[in-house]
Amino acid sequence: MTLYYNKAPSARTRVRRHHERGSYERETIEAILDEGLVGHLAFAVDGQPYAIPMLYARNGHELYLHGSPASRLLRGAIDGVPLCLTVTLTDGLVLARSAFRHSVNYRSVVALGAGRAITDREEKLEAMRMLVDQIVPGRSQDARGPNDVELKATTMVAMTITEASAKVRSGPPIDGEEDLGIPAWAGVLPLALAPGVAIPDEFCAAGIPDYIAAYERPRSGA
Ligand SMILES: Cc1cc2nc3c(=O)[nH]c(=O)nc-3n(C[C@H](O)[C@H](O)[C@H](O)COP(=O)(O)OP(=O)(O)OC[C@H]3O[C@@H](n4cnc5c(N)ncnc54)[C@H](O)[C@@H]3O)c2cc1C
Repeated sequence: MTLYYNKAPSARTRVRRHHERGSYERETIEAILDEGLVGHLAFAVDGQPYAIPMLYARNGHELYLHGSPASRLLRGAIDGVPLCLTVTLTDGLVLARSAFRHSVNYRSVVALGAGRAITDREEKLEAMRMLVDQIVPGRSQDARGPNDVELKATTMVAMTITEASAKVRSGPPIDGEEDLGIPAWAGVLPLALAPGVAIPDEFCAAGIPDYIAAYERPRSGA
């Protein structure tokens, strides 16, 4: 399996527009994947593309995905079906003096690969544990693990990344010189994914554990 991490991108993954914002370095790609929470998994069924939002976890160059065996995706994602997972971190709104120059500061990854159903019980349990712990680190120590019925009711898919690209925009707006005198406010409005205050459910007797009270997404730097 060829990995394009840290290598020249293929024609499929080469960023064309603003190519200077493209990166194919493993560290950059993996940092964005690890900071992201939701990915959009794209696949084609009978020529119709679908892009479905879902959670994921990364284990090396594999991404773990899960869902109901009845979902269209997970029925089709198995057995080497080509997949594309896109993850986007929105770091800020870039407000220029002209509408044309407005932009977004972001870090995004487009990863191509193929799906593999995880059928081995131990591998499946480990993949499920990693998924839970990458979303909420420490959670698998607290919550009950899956029983046999739940295990059967969950399809786990490993997507092996064969090629990937990252694209990063940062910094202020780039107004044309002719617009710099326009009195409109211009600059960046930073955005970040941040937790609110945890709300216990009505059956909760325990206090809020530290791993929830101190929850934050890993930051790789905007
Ligand atoms: C939050 C956000 C908002 C955006 N809004 C717009 C918009 O409104 N209009 C618009 O045209 N573009 C938008 N973009 C940029 C868009 O993602 C593409 O980068 C852009 O369309 C140019 O693609 P291309 O023609 O260079 O590459 P394409 O030919 O479309 O793609 C070639 C390859 O380049 C790589 N690639 C392209 N874009 C990205 C990316 N963002 N991240 C990682 N790899 C990438 C992929 O591997 C892809 O297979 C937005 C990006 C983000 C993250």
